[in-house]
Amino acid sequence: MNPDLLLTNCAVVDGRVVDGTGTGPVPDGAVWVRSGRIAAVGPAEPVRAQARAAGTTVEHDLAGAYLTPGLVNMHTHLSLSLPGEGGDGVRRMGPHELALYMADGARRTLLSGVTTVRCVAEKDHADFALRRAIEAGWATGPRIYTAGQALVCTGGHGHGSTETLECDGADEFRRGVRSQVRAGADLIKVMISGGIAGEHEQIDTPQLQPDELSAVLDTAHAWGRKVTAHAGPAGTIADAVRRGLDCVEHGYQLTAPVAAEIAGHGTALVPTLLVTRCKEFFDELAVPDWMKNRSLSAGPRHLESFGLAVAAGVEVLLGSDMPPFWQFEGTTATVRELEHMSEAGLGPARALYAGTLGPVRWLGAEPDLGTVEPGKYADLIAMDGDPLADTTAFRTIRWVMKQGRVVRDDRADGARW
Ligand SMILES: [Zn+2]
Repeated sequence: MNPDLLLTNCAVVDGRVVDGTGTGPVPDGAVWVRSGRIAAVGPAEPVRAQARAAGTTVEHDLAGAYLTPGLVNMHTHLSLSLPGEGGDGVRRMGPHELALYMADGARRTLLSGVTTVRCVAEKDHADFALRRAIEAGWATGPRIYTAGQALVCTGGHGHGSTETLECDGADEFRRGVRSQVRAGADLIKVMISGGIAGEHEQIDTPQLQPDELSAVLDTAHAWGRKVTAHAGPAGTIADAVRRGLDCVEHGYQLTAPVAAEIAGHGTALVPTLLVTRCKEFFDELAVPDWMKNRSLSAGPRHLESFGLAVAAGVEVLLGSDMPPFWQFEGTTATVRELEHMSEAGLGPARALYAGTLGPVRWLGAEPDLGTVEPGKYADLIAMDGDPLADTTAFRTIRWVMKQGRVVRDDRADGARW
C-alpha cells in the first residue's frame, strides 16, 4: 500500500464522520488522507472526487461505521507494577525484558484505539527508548508524551521502584526536574500526596513541603514543561493549583470550593475513576488486601469529587491508570473509564472531547492531533455505534489508523460493515 495514496471512505448507509470539533456526524462522509495527514473531510462524493483527481486509488470502505479521532489516554503506565504478585513479575524484569514488555503494551494500546498516550511514571527511562523505537518504525505503538520518572519524596507515593525518583528539599526536586528534561521528558509528574498503592501512607497524607513543590513548578515552567500532580486531598490540591499546577491526577477528595478554584485557574483534572472501582483487576494481579480495601472504600467519595469537578466546569480528561488496553468488564480499561466519566455527568459528547481534543489541547498538540480536520495527522478509529449517542459505542472499535497507516482492520473476520 502506498501511504501517499490512501482514501479512507466512510461512506454510504450509516457512514458518518464524527470529527470531534463539537458538530454532529457527517452522514455519508469521507476523509481523504495524504502523506499521513488529512487532506480533506466532508460529504463523500466531493471528497472522493477530489482524491481521485489527485491520483488516489486506495479506498477503505467503512460504510456503516462511525469514524472519530483516535483516543488519547492521559494517565498511562506501560511498566505498571502494583504491590502484589502480578506487579512483582514486572518488577523482577531486567532492562531488556522490560523494554520488550512495554513494547508489547504499546502495540496493544494502539490496536485498542488509543493513538496517543501521556505516560506519567515509567521505569528506568525505558519509555524514552520505546518512544524512539516507535518513531523510527521499529516498534508499533501510540504517540508517546512522557514524564519519565515521577518525582516523589523519600518514602512517598510510588517510591521503591525505578518509575519514581526520590528527592528531598527544593534543590533535589529542581535536580529531579532537570534530570527528566535531560532524558527527554515532555512534562513533569510529581506526587504531592499519598494514594492507594502506598502501604505506609493514606490518600490524604500531604507529602511535599511548599518550597519543594514551588521548586518543581518554577523549574519545569522555566524549561517550558507542564507539571501534573498525583493528588488526593482538597487542601493539598488547592495549594498546588494556586502555585501554578497544570493538571491534577485522581483528585479523590475535592470539595465544591476547591473544584471552583481548579476551574478558575484552568487546571485540568484526570480523574482515573477506574482506580477505585476495579476489584477484578486487583484480584487478577493479587494485590494485597490493604490496597484493595483502601481503593474500593474510596470509590463513592471519588465519584462525588468527579461530579463536583464537572459541575464547576473543570476541564476533565480521559486517563485509565490501568494499562490502556487491559481487558476489563467486557472492554478495555480506556473505554471503561470513558464510560464511567460519561455516566457520572459528562454525557457522550463531552466524553468524546475528554478523550480526544481536550487532552490534545493540554499537550499543546492541537495543530497536529485531536480532531478530524484537514492538516492534522490521520489518527482515526472506526466503530459500529454512534459515540455521540452512547459512549459504549467505543466498545465496538474495529479499525484503527495511525498517521495514515491502517494498523487494525477486523472486517476480514466479521465483515460487519
Ligand atoms: Zn498512575
